[in-house]
Amino acid sequence: MGDRRCRYCQKSFQPSKFQPRQTVCSEAECQRKRRADYHRRKLASDPEYRDGCRDSPRKWRARNPGYWKQYRQKNPAAVEQNREQQKLRDQKRKLCNLANNTSALDLKHSAAKVWLIGSGAAHLANNNSAHSQVFVIQALPPRPVPPASSCKQHPAGSAEDPAA
Ligand SMILES: [Zn+2]
Repeated sequence: MGDRRCRYCQKSFQPSKFQPRQTVCSEAECQRKRRADYHRRKLASDPEYRDGCRDSPRKWRARNPGYWKQYRQKNPAAVEQNREQQKLRDQKRKLCNLANNTSALDLKHSAAKVWLIGSGAAHLANNNSAHSQVFVIQALPPRPVPPASSCKQHPAGSAEDPAA
């Protein structure tokens, strides 16, 4: 197998059998340089390529100022939907961050219960993030009496302890 040196980092690498003329190793940084060089050379030598790149999203926005503002004014429903979806994405991210927070308790090994309260609890149960508040409550020690009902059926604000 012919070893060769990367044009950018000078390290030796094995060319891919699909790219026998490969001159750049597969490191992300070297590949990024290769693409940037290709782009620069193409821009200089290929007018069609240049025209295609002129319509990059950024340049398109620059040539069409106010498009999105008008779109939002004409489509308030889409704006509202996007706003709601963004809220859900934010909530999901917060929950993920909470789960990744290593200073938190390991929920898998704690005897805690999670109560979902709010209009969206059923949606959350179906794996859609929703407008729910999540309470994590340390469970009481096990008792012989099993819980009466699931959390979804539990009426909010009622007496919590069926044995009381
Ligand atoms: Zn390299």
